[in-house]
Amino acid sequence: MLPLLLAAGCAGDAGEPAEIPSDYAEIISAALWADDMTVSLSDDDMLTVGDDGVPDHDVLEAYALMDGTTTPVVTSTYTMTFPMAPVVATETTDTSGGAIGVAISGGRYFNPYEGDGTTVALDSNFEVDGVPFVDSCNAHPLPDGGDYHYHGVPYCITDVIDTDGAHSRLIGVLLDGFTVYGPWGDGGSPPTDLDACSGHTGVTPEFADAVYHYHLTETAPYSIPCYRGEVESTGMGPPA
Ligand SMILES: [Zn+2]
Ligand SMILES: [Zn+2]
Repeated sequence: MLPLLLAAGCAGDAGEPAEIPSDYAEIISAALWADDMTVSLSDDDMLTVGDDGVPDHDVLEAYALMDGTTTPVVTSTYTMTFPMAPVVATETTDTSGGAIGVAISGGRYFNPYEGDGTTVALDSNFEVDGVPFVDSCNAHPLPDGGDYHYHGVPYCITDVIDTDGAHSRLIGVLLDGFTVYGPWGDGGSPPTDLDACSGHTGVTPEFADAVYHYHLTETAPYSIPCYRGEVESTGMGPPA
């Protein structure tokens, strides 16, 4: 049943993805990346982003784990590469566990699910001795404290850079090279034309000509359930 739903949802009500603008890579590299991140463009149109895995916004002193213990956020250095000439795929590809993209904070995006592939992280918050599983930024680290990741709207980023009544600002990129935005579409309202991958084609504060991009959402699925573009890997590193 799921493949049918995805096929129907991605049929293109939001309009076919537009051509990639010639300054796509330059605009993305000029996004509000955290100062301690490394962001570079290669001649073959790949964006390489690296960080110590600790976001540039506040995190909690500790996070609850499924086994009833807690962990602080620890350094977990990574490098990820993204195609800056993304290609719309003939079929969508489900996002998998592990990092599916990078945020301008240095944290990373994970799909809606925990490591079991079915537990929706944001619907399953709990506390251990007053310490929550997921913080108010809809994020937490892996059980080893590394790989701090968002499962939904990263409010500690969007609350700082988004403007009331306007489309959200660019807050990252996924492995297929398409960009990620907060919950607000044109006029500052949630978009009504998102496809099954939580994406649509339209203008954004960064792109004056319509481009395909994803929106994190305040309601399920919260994060990005599938890639609209071609991907070489569906997720990087361990899930959860
Ligand atoms: Zn949009
Ligand atoms: Zn998680």
